[in-house]
Amino acid sequence: MPSLSVYWNRCEGDTWGELYAVDLNDPHFDRLEGVYMVWLGGGKPTMICAGAGVIRDELIRRQNDPAITAMRDKPMLVSWAKVDAVSRPGVERWLLENLRPLIAQPVPGSVAVEVNLPGHPGQAQANTAAPPRQIFEDLTRATPAPSAVRASGSKTFEQLAAPSATMRASSIDTETRRLPLQPLLLEIVKKHTEAPKSNGGFFGGGSKPKVDDEQLVIDVVQMVLREAAKLKASDVHMEPIDHYLRIRFRVDGILEEVLHVPNGMNLRIVSHVRVMCGLDPEHGIGTSHPEDGRMFFMQDGMDADLRLSTFPTSYGDKAVLRLIPRSTKLPDIKDIGLPPGTLDDLFQLISRTQGMFIVTGPTGCGKSTTLYTILQSLNSPMRNIVTLEDPIEKKIPGINQGMIQPKANFGFAEGLRAILRQDPNVIMVGEIRDLETAEIAVSASLTGHMIFTTLHTNSAVGAITRLFDMGVEPFLIASALTAVSAQRLVRRICPSCIQPHQATPAEASEIESRAERAGIATPKSLLSNLKHGTGCSACRRTGYQGRTILFEYLPITPGMRQMIIKKSSMEDLRSAALREGMEPLVSEGFRKANEGITSIAEVFRIVDAAD
Ligand SMILES: [Zn+2]
Repeated sequence: MPSLSVYWNRCEGDTWGELYAVDLNDPHFDRLEGVYMVWLGGGKPTMICAGAGVIRDELIRRQNDPAITAMRDKPMLVSWAKVDAVSRPGVERWLLENLRPLIAQPVPGSVAVEVNLPGHPGQAQANTAAPPRQIFEDLTRATPAPSAVRASGSKTFEQLAAPSATMRASSIDTETRRLPLQPLLLEIVKKHTEAPKSNGGFFGGGSKPKVDDEQLVIDVVQMVLREAAKLKASDVHMEPIDHYLRIRFRVDGILEEVLHVPNGMNLRIVSHVRVMCGLDPEHGIGTSHPEDGRMFFMQDGMDADLRLSTFPTSYGDKAVLRLIPRSTKLPDIKDIGLPPGTLDDLFQLISRTQGMFIVTGPTGCGKSTTLYTILQSLNSPMRNIVTLEDPIEKKIPGINQGMIQPKANFGFAEGLRAILRQDPNVIMVGEIRDLETAEIAVSASLTGHMIFTTLHTNSAVGAITRLFDMGVEPFLIASALTAVSAQRLVRRICPSCIQPHQATPAEASEIESRAERAGIATPKSLLSNLKHGTGCSACRRTGYQGRTILFEYLPITPGMRQMIIKKSSMEDLRSAALREGMEPLVSEGFRKANEGITSIAEVFRIVDAAD
C-alpha cells in the first residue's frame, strides 16, 4: 500500500467536526476496525461498497477490487465507523442518510472519514496510540478544494501537516480570500492550533478539545465585534448559509461582506452571541420564533450597547447586532453639514418658545441625530426638555429622556399627555404614527411648547400631506407648524483617493433630466467639478469614508400657511415651497457633488428620482 495522505473527519452529533490531515500509515490505523463504506464522490455520490474490518487491511485487500480500480483517479470518500455488530445496520443507514447531503459537492481525491456516531462518543479511543498530527485547515473553507488534495497525493504527511503557503492559498477560494477579516480568523485559528492540547490527544475521550474550542469561538466573536467597532459599523449580520456563516457589516449605510466562518463553528458563534445577550444558548439552532436581547460591550476604549435580534431561517438563527456606541460625542449642530444659511434660519426658528418642527426621511437617514443635536443646542438650565423615544439611542445629560413601553400601554399618545403635566418647555416625540399623537402634539405646540418630532415621508412637503391624511385639521397644522425638513445621508468621497471624475453621457443626461423634473438649475460648472474615489486601503476599496447630510428645509412662511389652510395638493405645495426658496434634496445633492464632497453616483443612489 503506497503512503496515503488522507483527510480525516470526525463528527459529533450531527455536526461536522474539524478536518485533519492524517497519515494512513500512522500506528493509529494498525488496529482501527469497524464498519466502513467507500463512496464514489463527485456531483452525485454513490456508495460502491461497504463492509467491516480493519480499515487499512480492507483498503489493501480491496485495492484490486474492480470497483475501486475503476475510480482510481476519481474522487473517493471512505466513511468509517467503529461500532459493534448489533449496531451495524443502523449505522449504515445513518451514514447513508447523513453523509449524502454533506458530500453534494465534489469531494477530494482520496479521503478517509471517521465518524463518531451520536451517542457513541469515543468509540475509537481503544485503538489509538499517539494522536496523528492535525491541521485546522478546513476553518478556511467548507470542503477541501479538489486540486489541493489531489496534489497532495504524492506528498508526505509532514508536508500536509505543515501546509505550505501555496496549499493554504489553493484551499481558500478567491472570494473568501478577499474578505477583509479572513486573515484575522486564520491568525486566531493558528494561535489555537499551536497551543498545547491538554486532553491527552486528538482521540482522547472521543471529543474535540472542548476548552480550546470554546475559547476559539469567544476569540472569533471578540475579533468580529472589535473590527466592527473599528470600522464604525452600525450593524453586524451573522447569517448561517448552507455550509458557512456569512458575516456582514453595515458601514456608512452599505452592507459589506467581511468574513466567512466555516461549518463546524458557525452555529456556535450565533449561540455564543445569544448567551452574551442574555438568551438561552440551547435555542441556538433551529428556534421557531424571533427573539431580542441586549448587552453592553466594552473593548479597546470603545463602549457600546449591542441590541441583538434573531430570526429563524432554514439554516439556523440569523443574528443581527445593532451597535450603538455610548462614548461617541454628539456632533455640534454646526458640524452636521447643514448649509450655513439654513443653519442660521433653523436655529432662529427652533429657539422659539412654541411651535412644531418635523424631520422626515426613511429609516437610517440620521433623523434622530439631527434632533439630538438640536436638543443639545437648546439644552440649558432654563429649559425643561423632555423626550419620548423608541428606543433611547443616545443619553444627553440634562435632558429627561423617556422610552415608550407599548406592552405596558405606555405609547406615544399616553406619554405625551403625561409629559404635558410635567411643565415642559421643549418636547421631543420620537415619531408620530397616529392621529391621536398628532393631535396632542399639535395642540401642545399651540399652547406654549416647542415640539420636535419625525414622520416617515420622503419629502418635506410630504409631512404636511401626511398630517392631512391622518385627519388633522388643516388650520391646526397651519398654525402649529414652524418648519419641516427632509434629509438623507450620502457617503463622502475618501480624501486619500479622490480624483476628478469625467461624467459618462448617461450621468450627464440623468443630471439634466433630474434638474428639469425638480424645476431647479444645476450648478454652472457641475460637470467639470465632479469627483470620485478610486478606492484605496484607507477606504477598503469603496472610494468613500464617512457620511454627510443632504437637508431639504422648508420654513412655514405666511404664503405656505395659506396653502396649508386651503389643503393644497402635494404638487401645489411643492411648487409654492420652491417659489419660497426651498432647496430640494436633489439640488442639495448637486451642490455637494459640485463641491467634491460626494460623487454624482452617490447622489443618484440616495435621492429618489421622484423627489
Ligand atoms: Zn480611498
